[in-house]
Formats: sequence, C-alpha cells, structure tokens
Amino acid sequence: MGEHPETTTRVATLLKKQKGKCTHCGMYFQEEDVLGIDHITPKSLGGKDEYKNLQILHRHCHDEKTTGKQPRSKDTGLQPSSK
Ligand SMILES: [Zn+2]
Repeated sequence: MGEHPETTTRVATLLKKQKGKCTHCGMYFQEEDVLGIDHITPKSLGGKDEYKNLQILHRHCHDEKTTGKQPRSKDTGLQPSSK
C-alpha cells in the first residue's frame, strides 16, 4: 500500500512538532499504531490545510474526536463500571 509522499512528509513534520505524542490521548506513537492526520479546525468550519491547523492522532483517537463522543452525564449510568 503506497502512501502519498506528501503525506509522509507531513506526518514526519507533525510528529516532530508533537514530539511523537498523540495530542488527543497524550501517548507516544508506537510503530504499529495507525495514525491519522486531523484538522484541528475542521475544514467544514473554515480550517486551513496548513501545519498549524494539523495534528497527528491515533486513528482511533481521530475517530473519537470526529464522532464527537463526549462523556455522557453519569445519570444514565445503568451499567456499573467495573474499575
Ligand atoms: Zn491517541
């Protein structure tokens, strides 16, 4: 599977900027992690396609962010959390 060279450069630059950490969960990226480029301000909201508006997230973190999953209020806590 070939990646666009431009994407690779972007990822490398952004990773350096972020010191190898995911800005969503704060974990260091591992080699086996799937990464995604995220627009900090979504393009749909006028975000630009430039470095200061881009960040690298884990793919799953990106999904979490884009699906806008937010912690629900505890009132709905029907299932007991087993921590
Ligand atoms: Zn992450």
